[in-house]
Parts: sequence; C-alpha cells; structure tokens
Amino acid sequence: MASTPEGPLDRRGFFSRGFAELFGKAAEAVGERVEDVAAAAGLRFPVVDAVRCLPFRDVACGVCARVCPVGEAALRLDERGRPVIGGACTACGQCIDACVTAPSSLQSS
Ligand code: SF4
Ligand code: SF4
Repeated sequence: MASTPEGPLDRRGFFSRGFAELFGKAAEAVGERVEDVAAAAGLRFPVVDAVRCLPFRDVACGVCARVCPVGEAALRLDERGRPVIGGACTACGQCIDACVTAPSSLQSS
C-alpha cells in the first residue's frame, strides 16, 4: 500500500461513499430505512452516548479510538478526548464492543 498520508484515507473515503450509496440503494429498493437494511446485514453504526461516555465527564479514556481498524477518518478524539464518528466508518462494531462502560457508550444504530 502506498505510504503517502492522503492515499489510504482517500481509499477509505471512496470505500465509505460507495458503502453508503450501496445501502441507500438497497434500502430504497426494498422500501426500508437504511438503518434497518444495515442492521439486517449485520452492520453496526456507532452513536456516541454523551451521558455515559467518560470524557464527557472529564475522565480520560479513548479506548474506542485505539481499536478502530480504520483510524481517525472513522473515529477520532476531539480536543477534549471525546469520540467523534467520521464518514469513513465501516460499521464493523468493534468500538461498540470495546467501550469500557457497561452498557457501551457507543450505541448501535
Ligand atoms: S464501527 Fe468500526 S470502523 Fe466504525 S468507528 Fe467503530 S471501530 Fe471504527
Ligand atoms: S471507550 Fe467508551 S467511554 Fe471510552 S471514550 Fe470510547 S465511547 Fe467513551
């Protein structure tokens, strides 16, 4: 794989857009919500629960960001260490499972 900084991110972005379009078309074809089609396919898009997530209470964490296989384009920490989900997320669900709180502070949508 090329090692230029923008190369891998560009490919991830392309994959993510293609991914979103695919599920958008599938949902339209069957008359269902995109979230329902994605769930049926076993995909889990994370949504941050600001009540549970530790950095929202000024407790350092960031475990979710460390396990994300895509990297900052999918899950980055903001200046206060709070997780932010990005457009390159592939909905693998690994961050949801890795979250240190119970139940997870990353809810599947
Ligand atoms: S679902 Fe997967 S790709 Fe998306 S932010 Fe979580 S770990 Fe990263
Ligand atoms: S692992 Fe859970 S508690 Fe920690 S930053 Fe990520 S979402 Fe928040």
